Amino acid sequence: MVLADLGGRISHAIQQMTNATVIDEKVLNDCLNEITRALLSSDVQFQLVRDMQKNIKAIVNLDELAAGHNKRRIIQQAIFNELCKMLDPGKPSFTPKKGKPSIVMFVGLQGSGKTTTCTKYAHYHQKKGWKPALVCSDTFRAGAFDQLKQNATKARIPFYGSYTESDPVKIAVEGVETFKKEYCDLIIVDTSGRHKQEAALFEEMRQVSEATNPDLVIFVMDGSMGQAAFDQAQAFKLSVPVGAVIITKMDGHAKGGGALSAVAATKSPVIFMGTGEHMDEFEVFDVKPFVSRLLGMGDWTGLMDKLQDAVPEDQQTDLVEKFMGGNFTLRTMYELYQSILNMGPLSQVFSMMPGYREQMIPKGQEKESQAKIKRCMTIMDSMTNQELDSTNPKLMNESRILRIARGSGRQVKEVMEMMEEYKKLAKNMKSVIPNKGNKNLLSQNM
Ligand code: GDP
Repeated sequence: MVLADLGGRISHAIQQMTNATVIDEKVLNDCLNEITRALLSSDVQFQLVRDMQKNIKAIVNLDELAAGHNKRRIIQQAIFNELCKMLDPGKPSFTPKKGKPSIVMFVGLQGSGKTTTCTKYAHYHQKKGWKPALVCSDTFRAGAFDQLKQNATKARIPFYGSYTESDPVKIAVEGVETFKKEYCDLIIVDTSGRHKQEAALFEEMRQVSEATNPDLVIFVMDGSMGQAAFDQAQAFKLSVPVGAVIITKMDGHAKGGGALSAVAATKSPVIFMGTGEHMDEFEVFDVKPFVSRLLGMGDWTGLMDKLQDAVPEDQQTDLVEKFMGGNFTLRTMYELYQSILNMGPLSQVFSMMPGYREQMIPKGQEKESQAKIKRCMTIMDSMTNQELDSTNPKLMNESRILRIARGSGRQVKEVMEMMEEYKKLAKNMKSVIPNKGNKNLLSQNM
């Protein structure tokens, strides 16, 4: 089951429960059983799912809840918290400090996206003012050094490796020493991955770790990994002191279960996730927004970050004010669409918007979605200032709609559809932004 389906099924189960006239033991059990089935078919380890169900039942004691309590809300909150708990091992990972050399070692199976992720991680920190460097200690896979070199060159990050030296430990130590002398403050060591867990791989990894004494070992895992995720992550953790996890390929057929299981197996937090092959398709992993997105509640903070990346600095305050102000007019929607068109992968941005689940823009249909947005903008181009700035939906009467359709050369049906879209979006924005100026909304949203 892909991640979007998992979220869809869980939110459907919650919705069913919410719709029930009376919340009794049976309704609660049906809801929890559906969530259990969804998690199991997403490859979350059985024990984890069982614990979650037990915990929720312990929190939601229907007999003890007085009549006045909002049972729905308490159950929703418990489910949300338990999902967050599964992804949060309770201790933060090491974070490198600027100006002080930190060594970060990457481990993972071949094909997990380890080498790509090393560069993404370096690039991310470089943009934030670190001075990263890459060391390729993978002497096992032919072409590994060339791949790292190519990525590093593209990102203008210094790199170290060898075509002739076959001892990975020697290369790792030399690379680290070289970059320490060059005052690099984030030295990233890429290690060999093999097709499967092999004793030789683990021994080599252990030796590299011992010789370089990393501040942080990051376990890179393919997000589409199935039931094997837990055992695999645990095997790595037993050989080297894994302190953080990065989940890759979350753009594809990623199963949520892999992420949940890797956290449980390594007792380490997920710190980033890879959402595509390109250097910038890399996101900081935050538990609450992730679970919010998973459940289709939208990731307000992530959306604002992305918008702010795409909008010139002098217009940012305006934009934030506009969204936070709660007056979501057609003009705001127009500007939002404009920002989205400037931002690349639409699906990513849309998935962060409250009420817009990933499946609203199915993979591979970004082009159509983009065309639809452009169509909507053409329609709005035929509106008057009064129409664009109004917050009164009744303003859009039949004659105005007819005029706009004629003016934009679109069908009446399309104008009406766009208005429906606007109303939905305005409503969702309102539900996520209850208080003006309060940016910390996700936790209140449940
Ligand atoms: P390694 O063998 O673990 O070092 O894996 P690579 O870094 O060579 O990556 C294997 C393949 O996965 C390459 O084709 C990458 O472009 C691709 N890849 C890595 N991360 C991501 C990601 O987040 N999303 C997608 N779609 N592809 C990725």
